[in-house]
Amino acid sequence: MRVGEHFCPGVLHEVQAKDGLLIRIRVPGGLIEANQLRTIANLSRSFADGAIEITSRANLQLRGIRTEDLSQIVHGISSAGLLPSQLHDRVRNIVTSPIAGLDPGELIDPRPLIRQLDRRLQADTAFVSLHSKFSFAIHGGPKRFGRDTDDVSLDALNLGAAPYLRLSLGGVSSGFVVKPGDAVDCMLATARMCIELAKESSLPVRGKAVVAIPGAMERILDALSQMLQPSPLSLPASTVNEALLGICPTSQDGRVSIIPSVPLGRLNPEQARYLADTSNEWQGDLRLAPWRGVVLGSIPKSAADNIVAQLRAIGLSCEGRDGFQGIAACAGITGCDASLADVRGDAASLAQRLLGHAVPSGWTVNLSGCDKQCARRHGATAELVAGPLGYTLNVKGRRVASDCSREFALDAVAALHENLLSEVAAR
Ligand code: SF4
Repeated sequence: MRVGEHFCPGVLHEVQAKDGLLIRIRVPGGLIEANQLRTIANLSRSFADGAIEITSRANLQLRGIRTEDLSQIVHGISSAGLLPSQLHDRVRNIVTSPIAGLDPGELIDPRPLIRQLDRRLQADTAFVSLHSKFSFAIHGGPKRFGRDTDDVSLDALNLGAAPYLRLSLGGVSSGFVVKPGDAVDCMLATARMCIELAKESSLPVRGKAVVAIPGAMERILDALSQMLQPSPLSLPASTVNEALLGICPTSQDGRVSIIPSVPLGRLNPEQARYLADTSNEWQGDLRLAPWRGVVLGSIPKSAADNIVAQLRAIGLSCEGRDGFQGIAACAGITGCDASLADVRGDAASLAQRLLGHAVPSGWTVNLSGCDKQCARRHGATAELVAGPLGYTLNVKGRRVASDCSREFALDAVAALHENLLSEVAAR
């Protein structure tokens, strides 16, 4: 597999992996239509490895594609409306809460802003030069499901009677807010400044790189001074690191969201079709989530228990005891030439050890086939990184074992899980 920023895939930028071609499909805000998910499921079953992978920015990925089938997949994706601009194939990372518009506590519904931002990005060829990992995030507050690595983000907060959105660049708060009506102009202007400043300094167009240039933040704030005002609140918005799960209330009367665990962020065609059909049947609202999951939103409460039972029957548990919660693994030995271990198989073995147990708060485990750690999430409870002589085990950022066998490593992580649960029970 080719790795690194120059080989970030898109629909028209396929990457050759060990198991065939790999493509990534943009889904701004994770706002996918049921029929689009069904189309992708059918395409994956016919022309890829059958799985639909959800990425950490709530896009989709297909792998195991034969070269001769690529054009049919691209045609199918385009016909489903998932390739609206060929030029902007990889200008795709627009992140929001997967319960936007459904969250009873949110300050503003960011979805109209997400759609407007997407339209305007696609209408402007200047943004084609954005780095393919550049991400915009708009959070309607008070929770945010983004990451500090989002390049430009706006977080809603209440200032007096009206909500505003606080601007951050590369995870660094600007200390300024913008009115929702100026939010999209603000994001686009910030992105333009990032392109200009990065070019001047011969840096990649990334928020973190730009914000580190001396005087860059001041120049951006100066350019945006007409639409910004100082924020009296300096505290950062609280980031929600854990996946939501189960039956969750919504702001809509009599309707709930159903949120299953998606093992390793991969749906099979049967699961994807069930989600799409159920969403259609109940006029629901389907979303992809940045924890590499799905939200079956806006479902009548009266139908929820039956749907949860059906989901369980097809391998999408809503109870949080399937063992997979919090576990992420890279492509591993089947999909990547660099992999030194079958990390997906080992992740499944770990899940088997944890099956039936509750999940400690904040529990996250990353399994990587080599030290590039593509699936890495910062702040993970445990990390297993494969090397030539076995796994390295890190717990809360500290190395605790090297060159250990898979059995030893998986047992150690399972013991850690048990200890954390015991600590919680003892409190
Ligand atoms: S971390 Fe995994 S996917 Fe990334 S290069 Fe290493 S083996 Fe490949």
